[in-house]
Amino acid sequence: MSKKQLDFLRESDPTVAEIIQRELQRQRDHLELIASENFASESVMAAQGSVLTNKYAEGLPGKRYYGGCEFIDQIEELAIERAKALFGASAANVQPHSGAQANFAVFLSLLEPGDTIMGMDLSHGGHLTHGSPVNVSGKWFKATHYGVSPETEVLDYENIRQLALKEKPKLLICGYSAYPRIIDFEKFRSIADEVGAYLMADIAHIAGLVASGHHPNPMPFCDVVTTTTHKTLRGPRGGLILTKDIELGKKFDKAVFPGTQGGPLEHVVAAKAVAFGEALEPEFKEYCANVIANAQALANQLSRRGLKLVSGGTDNHLLLIDLRSIKLTGKEADRLVSEINITANKNTVPFDPESPFVTSGLRLGSAAMTTRGLGVAEFLEIANIIADRLLNPEDEAIKRKCIQRVADLCESFPLYSRKESAMAIA
Ligand SMILES: *Cc1c(COP(=O)(O)O)cnc(C)c1O
Repeated sequence: MSKKQLDFLRESDPTVAEIIQRELQRQRDHLELIASENFASESVMAAQGSVLTNKYAEGLPGKRYYGGCEFIDQIEELAIERAKALFGASAANVQPHSGAQANFAVFLSLLEPGDTIMGMDLSHGGHLTHGSPVNVSGKWFKATHYGVSPETEVLDYENIRQLALKEKPKLLICGYSAYPRIIDFEKFRSIADEVGAYLMADIAHIAGLVASGHHPNPMPFCDVVTTTTHKTLRGPRGGLILTKDIELGKKFDKAVFPGTQGGPLEHVVAAKAVAFGEALEPEFKEYCANVIANAQALANQLSRRGLKLVSGGTDNHLLLIDLRSIKLTGKEADRLVSEINITANKNTVPFDPESPFVTSGLRLGSAAMTTRGLGVAEFLEIANIIADRLLNPEDEAIKRKCIQRVADLCESFPLYSRKESAMAIA
């Protein structure tokens, strides 16, 4: 949405324009540490706010059910080619509306109702779409789950192997929402081969780090790789399916449309193409290196301040504070940091004694604030602010100081601040 477009909106629908303005201000005034969020570039938003939203384009480039798709085809081809280049895939479907939709299409392609799937337990860092009983993946398939080791809180591949031998899943899933360590895709491949399972990596969180070479690439080892495009990859909200197997790729295409979706969101596909283009640039490599350095600075300083981290630290963009040692719940910690304008989320820790609504963990990520330009020095300050707050929950003077320190950081690193800024309507 350009400034001009928002000016139009201000005139025609001031109510909606005002709410958008307030949301922009909220994003500017808070330290965004939700590990699954990021700030898309103004170019990504410009493409997403474009006239492409007007077009129906069911089908694939060159094979559409509607006329007038010659430019839409060029956009989608570009997105596909860039996605393939970014991840070393042979086929890509860029149409899934979200990560959950991408996963659902894969299940429709590879499984029959009643088949066994195996993914990580939700409370250990897995995702709802990997077999939770409240999700279609847990309702239509026989879902079995592995977890992390109770001692090290990292993946125990021999344990996963034993479980796979026992359960014989047709689909083995790796890739997580709250796992701070490197995933060994080669080990997962050998387990999948031993039990004759398809192997899927859902890299929704770490896609940017994979694309930039800061996390091993699952593509050589997996039958299919799914991801979101809006987390570390920093694109528009959406999903993506990748494979090195052209024939499987055709199956995934059919499972997306007509299997599970109708008309693709071509304005979002255009925004994906822009984001993939950005991720192919050398600056994105540097960005991802900074994301990891910042997460590690945050983790190290929180540890120094006496907070316990799940698995002891991080190799990627996220970390989990285990709050049991300081006698707080995730719910309480979430409220405490919210009150000083830090946005994070409560999260279960492995073997959590609390319910998913309460939890014993707080999940933090560095991707969004790294986009805003914060570096290691600022992430040390963030760690100290969080520690000051969580270790002194009743101290009003400390709370007031924390609010000021957050405001100082936000002011020093403005968001969407260029004069011609897409969203700058203030
Ligand atoms: C975020 C996430 C998803 C779902 O993405 P949506 O776009 O919210 O549907 C799927 N899998 C994993 C591992 C995730 O972290």
